[in-house]
Amino acid sequence: MIGAKPIFLFSRYLDLHIVKAMVLVGLAYYFGALLAIHQTITPEGIAILWPPNAILLAAFLIYPRKYLPFVAIAGISAELIASIPAFPVWAASCFAIINIASVSLAAFFIRRICGQNFNFKNLKNGAYFLFFAPFLAASLAGLSGATVYVLMGRTDTSYISLWQLWWFGDALAMLVLTPLIVVLWRWLQAGLPHFKLHYLLEALILWTAVIIIGYQSFSVETYEKSFLFFTPIWLVLLGVLAAIRLGVVGASATVALITVFAVEHLMRGTHPIIVNTPQNAVWLTQEYLAIIAVVSIGLAMLIQEISEQRDVLKQHENALKAQNQFLEERVSERTLALKEVNQALQKANERLAKSAATDELTGIPNRRHFLSEVQRELQRLRLDGQTASAIMIDLDHFKQVNDNLGHEAGDLVLCNIVEPISNAIRPRDLFGRMGGEEFLVFLSGADQELANSVAERIRAEIESLEVLYRNQKINVTASLGVAEWDGRSHLDELFHQADQALYQAKNRGRNRVVNLTESDSDSNHRLPPENHFELP
Ligand code: GH3
Ligand code: MG
Ligand code: MG
Repeated sequence: MIGAKPIFLFSRYLDLHIVKAMVLVGLAYYFGALLAIHQTITPEGIAILWPPNAILLAAFLIYPRKYLPFVAIAGISAELIASIPAFPVWAASCFAIINIASVSLAAFFIRRICGQNFNFKNLKNGAYFLFFAPFLAASLAGLSGATVYVLMGRTDTSYISLWQLWWFGDALAMLVLTPLIVVLWRWLQAGLPHFKLHYLLEALILWTAVIIIGYQSFSVETYEKSFLFFTPIWLVLLGVLAAIRLGVVGASATVALITVFAVEHLMRGTHPIIVNTPQNAVWLTQEYLAIIAVVSIGLAMLIQEISEQRDVLKQHENALKAQNQFLEERVSERTLALKEVNQALQKANERLAKSAATDELTGIPNRRHFLSEVQRELQRLRLDGQTASAIMIDLDHFKQVNDNLGHEAGDLVLCNIVEPISNAIRPRDLFGRMGGEEFLVFLSGADQELANSVAERIRAEIESLEVLYRNQKINVTASLGVAEWDGRSHLDELFHQADQALYQAKNRGRNRVVNLTESDSDSNHRLPPENHFELP
């Protein structure tokens, strides 16, 4: 039971993924060191680039934070295994500590500043990587590593040269290898986004060019003998092309390929760059590769950053467009609703205006509306110099209808009286209810003669009207007063005259037309003044 606890703890903190990461990093580190020893150290014993630290740094930038102590243990172990055959244990341990410490330092700051999911995706990340890894971490490692070398007393190279050798070897590997591993890892992790077949085709064409030009430019000893005058400068152009066409992944791969050629030919001792010592040839080549790496990968990062920003802008634009469309739709919906409300309001207004102008019982113009119409008509007639006449109509003994048959019967008679009056006048004549059982007709352009005949027609129509109320026939008569307008006076005066005439008609026995302006004013009908009611 006591022994189970550490195993439990171990299994709790070290899951299978971590073990896999440890094995992967340990092996990569170890083989990176082997590769460096066999493939990147010139015949003069100068390491052109030192991949193990670049590999370890990539691992430190890729894996989650909780993996890192275990990744570091894997790195230390691999370093010890690789170094112990060649160096004393204390020196190998020092190398392991120096490497782990410098890489941890760089990774700590880079992750701190650029985020835990670091990637070579923008220039800011690239600049921090450049400063903390190849510049700071590699130079500090070189400083400490050179000290260990001096302490071992195996070399007669100067301290400064040892420092530079270590620093530049580490730095170049970090510049070329770390971005390649990180971007490839992240790209695979994301399921190869943006991969298109034509990219692969372009990459193959570009890399073929790199291979041809790389081989040609690095394999010649002097260009005088060369058939094709290619120099390594051409490869800078291809690095730039890779950045433009293939993105960060393609640019990193292209830089790595160029590095392979440069290192390969340095190893063979062919130095196309004219230099006095092999040491200088290495430094110049390192410089050359560093420039290609920074330019090509940096440019690719810049392009990626711009295109991502463009995507974001496009998304914003699309969102804005959608929002705009949404708003436009809302506005048009609202406008439509408002239009409908407006139309309803207009209709209600029209109804209101009509009902304000109409007599509720009979449906003809009420007193106010009728008077205003007449007023307007008088103005027009005044301008045209035309004449007009008014006929005042009052039902005879109407009170009796109400008294004998009830108010309802009276109302029915009032409603029915409209039709005979309307029949007797022209459509353009004005007709209104003045109140009670009194009606007024205004005849535009009618002199008294015409007005008399119209009034007579009205009287006759009313007289012949039979209103049926509850099986009972109601007959009514009316008295009418006619007055002709003098072309000047106010309508009050005209109506007053008509009223006077009506009064006369009543006085003279009802059911008649009286026109006071006529010479023979009593030329009218004398019928029984009483209304009479008959059963059908
Ligand atoms: P005359 O004009 O012939 O002198 O007699 P009249 O009985 O018609 O006269 P009066 O003006 O005294 O009476 C008018 C009556 O009309 C009074 C009222 O009962 C009736 N009346 C007025 N307005 C209405 C109405 O809207 N409906 C009904 N049913 N009767 C009304
Ligand atoms: Mg009356
Ligand atoms: Mg009356």
